[in-house]
Amino acid sequence: MKCALITGGSRGIGRAVCLKLAGMGYHVLVNYKSNETEAQKTLSQVEEKGGSATLLKFDVAERDAVSGVLGKWMETNPDHTIEVLVNNAGIKDDVLLMWMKDEQWDNVIGASLNGFFNVTRLVIQGMLIRRYGRIINIVSLSGLKGLPGQTNYSAAKGGVIAATKALAQEVGKRNITVNAIAPGFIKTDMTEGLDEKQLKNLIPVNRFGEPEEVAHAVGFFASPESSYITGEVLSINGGMYS
Ligand code: NAP
Repeated sequence: MKCALITGGSRGIGRAVCLKLAGMGYHVLVNYKSNETEAQKTLSQVEEKGGSATLLKFDVAERDAVSGVLGKWMETNPDHTIEVLVNNAGIKDDVLLMWMKDEQWDNVIGASLNGFFNVTRLVIQGMLIRRYGRIINIVSLSGLKGLPGQTNYSAAKGGVIAATKALAQEVGKRNITVNAIAPGFIKTDMTEGLDEKQLKNLIPVNRFGEPEEVAHAVGFFASPESSYITGEVLSINGGMYS
């Protein structure tokens, strides 16, 4: 059975990606950190659309948890192959650097950058053996441009952008592509506290984006049709160029 693993699939962009990839015929592995209720909702929505999914609860930042839960699932399901990996799990914790606490730096880097490493290193082994794979990393405008108040988040996403370009060159010969998508403001829990009425003036399209508008692009990068694109970063930000 061909599978797509989406980290942070319980809410927001991750949920929209789960629905998109399920619609493309993948059995969806929905990773989440702690929100059981929202993860169950993703599962139900995938099933309502005629797809199938498995919930996998682990913290992508915790190496032991990744190998303990995901590694074990892979071992016990040798008939399932992970063909698509979407590294989407991420958090933000904004504060000026001079006031940033150790854990604010560590947690943000942990979820995005260490999470990318912990999950990708495990999943890529099977892709290398089967000589096919699609890895899509959800980064951010903040990782391209750098945003004040987000040195932790900009560093985490900028790190993943550089890793995307490096890994793409390592695995291109094996028909594995590695690309990144850099959203601007997308309507999810992460942007809930922001004032769209004020911020939309910065956006040429004059509104925040929808999670589905990101998911469509993930679907393209996940498809065989994108086979000659690798190491790229696609901005989805309504024209807010950095
Ligand atoms: P969201 O609505 O806050 O959802 C975050 C998801 O990530 C949840 O499923 C959460 O799981 C999961 N998660 C967080 N930390 C995790 C960890 N350590 N291990 C496993 N799962 C973890 O966020 P979103 O807006 O959809 O963002 C998704 C991605 O897009 C993030 O990487 C974010 O940085 C990026 N992004 C978002 C925007 C935006 O405007 N929304 C813009 C640019 C980039 P639980 O439900 O269990 O907590």
